[in-house]
Amino acid sequence: METISRRLERIRHKIAEAAIRSGRNPDAVKIVGVTKTVSPDRISEAVTAGLRILGENYIQESLAKIDALSSRDISWHFIGRLQSNKAKFAIRHFDLIHSVHSEKLATEINRQAAKNSRIQPVLIQVNTGQEATKSGVSPGDAVDLITRISGLENISVRGLMTMPPFFDAPENVRPFFRNTADLKKKIEDAGIDNVSMTELSMGMTGDYEAAVEEGATLVRIGTAIFGDRP
Ligand SMILES: *Cc1c(COP(=O)(O)O)cnc(C)c1O
Repeated sequence: METISRRLERIRHKIAEAAIRSGRNPDAVKIVGVTKTVSPDRISEAVTAGLRILGENYIQESLAKIDALSSRDISWHFIGRLQSNKAKFAIRHFDLIHSVHSEKLATEINRQAAKNSRIQPVLIQVNTGQEATKSGVSPGDAVDLITRISGLENISVRGLMTMPPFFDAPENVRPFFRNTADLKKKIEDAGIDNVSMTELSMGMTGDYEAAVEEGATLVRIGTAIFGDRP
C-alpha cells in the first residue's frame, strides 16, 4: 500500500496546481487531516510526513488521541457537530472550532472560554444546500447570526465552513462552494466589528480541488490521506 507520506505529497501537489489554475497562492491553502477512526500510530506517521493540522469530529474520541500525541507539534481543529454541553472540552483542546451554527452554542463557547481566560477562534458553519440532515446556519441567516455573536468577547469569528450536498461529480458541488465564497465576501464587506473573514473551510477527498479553485483556505481531507474508514 502507498505510504501516507506519498499520499500527502500528491495531495499537496494537486492543491498547488488548483491554486495556480485559479490565480491563488498555494501557500494560502492548508490541509486539515481528518482523523476520525484513525489510530494514533497512523496519525503520527502523517505528522512525521509534515501534516500539522488535524481535524476531529467527536470530543470523546479525540481526547485520548490528543493525549497520546501531546509531544507532537499539532494544531487540533474541531470539525464535528458540537453539543453545548461539550463546549468546555472543545475550548480546552482545539485551536479552531469549524462548526458553530447557533447563537446558543456560541454563547456557551464564549462562557467556557471566558472561564479559561482565552479567546476561542471559530468558524460559522453554513448549510449551503439547506439540507435537513446537515447542521449549519442557512445562508440567508448567516449575517444576522454573526452580527449577534460578534459582541461576545471571548469568541473570535474567523470565517466560514461548509459541507455541501454530496455529488459524485465535483463539478456539481462547485456552485455551492462559489455561493459560500460569495457569502464570505458579503460578510467581509459588512465590516462587522470583532469579525475577520480570513478562513474558508471547504472541500473533502472527492472535491478539494474545486474547493481550492473557489477560494478554500482550509481543506478537510480524511480518506485520501488515511484510506477508507471502517
Ligand atoms: C469526515 C469528514 C471529512 C473528511 O472526509 P473525506 O471524504 O474522508 O475526506 C471532512 N469534513 C467533515 C466535517 C467530516 O466529517
